[in-house]
Amino acid sequence: MHENLIPIRQAVIARNPGESEFHQAVDEVFESLGPVVARHPDLLESAILERICEPERQIIFRVPWTDDNGQVHINRGFRVEFNSALGPYKGGLRFHPSVYLGIVKFLGFEQIFKNSLTGMPIGGGKGGSDFDPSGRSDAEIMRFCQSFMTELYRHIGEYTDVPAGDIGVGGREIGYLFGQYKRITNRYESGVLTGKGLAWGGSLVRTEATGYGTVMFAEEMLKTRGQDMDGREIIVSGSGNVAIYAVERAQSLGAKVLTASDSSGYVMDPDGIDLDLLKQVKEVERARISQYAERKGGRARFISDGSVWDVPGSVALPCATQNELNGRQAKKLLANGVEVVAEGANMPTTAEAIRLFQDADVLFAPGKAANAGGVATSALEMQQNASRDSWTFDYTQQRLQEIMRGIHHRCAETADEYGMPGNYVAGANITGFIKVARAMSAQGLI
Ligand code: GLU
Repeated sequence: MHENLIPIRQAVIARNPGESEFHQAVDEVFESLGPVVARHPDLLESAILERICEPERQIIFRVPWTDDNGQVHINRGFRVEFNSALGPYKGGLRFHPSVYLGIVKFLGFEQIFKNSLTGMPIGGGKGGSDFDPSGRSDAEIMRFCQSFMTELYRHIGEYTDVPAGDIGVGGREIGYLFGQYKRITNRYESGVLTGKGLAWGGSLVRTEATGYGTVMFAEEMLKTRGQDMDGREIIVSGSGNVAIYAVERAQSLGAKVLTASDSSGYVMDPDGIDLDLLKQVKEVERARISQYAERKGGRARFISDGSVWDVPGSVALPCATQNELNGRQAKKLLANGVEVVAEGANMPTTAEAIRLFQDADVLFAPGKAANAGGVATSALEMQQNASRDSWTFDYTQQRLQEIMRGIHHRCAETADEYGMPGNYVAGANITGFIKVARAMSAQGLI
């Protein structure tokens, strides 16, 4: 790390004790900014980095709700409005028992640079709750979402802060959240949330966008080496929204996806993941991944120990959660001949694993570039809402494709410009940072 950045980093750690995921996300960006310090010292004046690392606003609130037996539960709700230099705060809500301020801040911090990279006019924010949705009935989920929105509504708005989904928050939850927002405010404010249903202001392709976009980014990286996805064996982790649509896109390009996983273990299917069955088990029934192997039969197997990273393949797409791919697992993937790693999840690869991939000349795409298709399509949803229009699937997918190509191009170009060809981590961090820093400087001491 550049010596001028070390004291700033230390101050961030001291000011945010115990928030290890946030520290990790800050370190990743700071590690990339050395050449910027050298080339554009003006950009770092007026404590720009210190300001970027301090959220504009952090909201923490109580979420009381009753389960189906009438028992009262209390959860904690969060919304971190990190940076509004480029547009209204934008970023998802995560409902998962691991959520605490440090997770929301790492996600919000990443979101600033990711959103900047998309080229769309959106700032960075993130929120969520330590609520555990697993095993909860629809009615319990609805009551939780209503209670959560009963506090959140006063902080958000189409020009202020626009939440969407993340882990544990999909179309069903966005529906309950939108209904409660509309009820409290008496406004049909479509642009206040994204990821809405198609009949009520949602955008075609939003559901598919993160997974499709991740594979589009991998395709762009492969193109730089004159290669493509056809005939490749792909290792996917996760089985949520991102993983499912990464599988769909990879298979449509002639690749064979061998794996999918959840917190109970993973499935390995040498005949290629049966997408309809995966969707039925995970999207419709919200069941355990072992159900996939049980129903598929044949050569499909459920494995409860080890991880998908034990399975050989030339492309790895971590689409589950943060820090799911560590140094030991990276070594295993490298020994098995991995050539491409693209992050569908946010920060799934540890710093050590990233270094190992880069040293081995693997094409490595950080989440803030590779998974930006989700939030970019949210911005397209906001555009449609603002113009009271709805676009076709083909047109929206074409826009997504252009956006992903644009992100790839900007990352690659910046990496070249700063003398680190092929380093998409540096390319993404530097490109994302410079735009936000310039906007903040232009707007005065904010
Ligand atoms: N949670 C997603 C992300 O990490 C999407 C956010 C959004 O659509 O606002 O980018």
